[in-house]
Amino acid sequence: MENPDCSKIKIGISSCLLGEEVRFDGGHKKNSYITGVLTQYFSFVPFCPEVEAGLGTPREPIRLMQEGGDIKCVGVKTPEWDVTEQLVAVAKPKRDWQHTLCGYILKKDSPSCGMERVKVYRKGAPNRSGVGLYAQGLMKNFPHLPVEEEGRLQDPHLRENFIQRVYIYNRWLDLHEKGCNLRALQDFHARHKYIFMSHNQQRARDLGALMANHDCLGLDTLAQRYLASMMSLLKNIATRKNHVNTLQHIQGYLKTHLDNDDKDELSEMIADYRQGLLPLIVPITLLRHHFRKFPNEYVDHSFYMAPHPGEMMLLNNI
Ligand code: SF4
Repeated sequence: MENPDCSKIKIGISSCLLGEEVRFDGGHKKNSYITGVLTQYFSFVPFCPEVEAGLGTPREPIRLMQEGGDIKCVGVKTPEWDVTEQLVAVAKPKRDWQHTLCGYILKKDSPSCGMERVKVYRKGAPNRSGVGLYAQGLMKNFPHLPVEEEGRLQDPHLRENFIQRVYIYNRWLDLHEKGCNLRALQDFHARHKYIFMSHNQQRARDLGALMANHDCLGLDTLAQRYLASMMSLLKNIATRKNHVNTLQHIQGYLKTHLDNDDKDELSEMIADYRQGLLPLIVPITLLRHHFRKFPNEYVDHSFYMAPHPGEMMLLNNI
């Protein structure tokens, strides 16, 4: 395993996606978006569970097979070659390096790494109902960790959602490293409130209510409940409708500052975004422009206005 660059956010990854020749046929599945773009921002920690389990490279391909209520992982040509226990043993322990990760990118369709819809064979016929054995253990050990598959990262909305979750989870881990207290938690909530609104307005209100009615909860319990609700809320893909609502909320801070022409221009851009004529980056850029002239501390501190590095251009395609 490589030593990750400490200045970048750490992300776990299926080794073959980085170009490591660890696949059953001795090949790889290098992903150019990951190795060309994401490596500029993230430090990847590669891991191949099948190599770690001692299956060797090259090796016979394996697949998930259902027998009664059990799901096993066996050789494609040699079904009596059962590697289930080896793979489960690799997946079970919470490894030191996994605790510091802010996300994980898994190889789709793999009986070890696949996050969802992995083929499970029953009486020779496949159905896409499985989860890779390593992925299963990982997600059980770290239920709040942002996890995604490389195939789904091609969708601009899923890509933006995953990367946004990674940055938020990274800030959450930072908060705890520095020593979490109630004030810091309230500040964290305030800075992310508009992001939560853009994902799900009711659940954002529920999260706000949890923060407002925490009296009978200790700090640890509050933080754990908050984290679970927040990461579950963030899995809802932000919709155009919710973004419009959020943009209009933020626009409200400018109502006493802008003249009628500027107000109309901003409203038109939000309306064009609502209709899908413009990407999200356009109204956000105009808002940033106005808030540079008329600063507002609450909005300036909100991560909604800059959820991830602008050079990633993730708001240009949603
Ligand atoms: S086990 Fe995972 S990392 Fe290893 S080759 Fe298969 S998909 Fe890639």
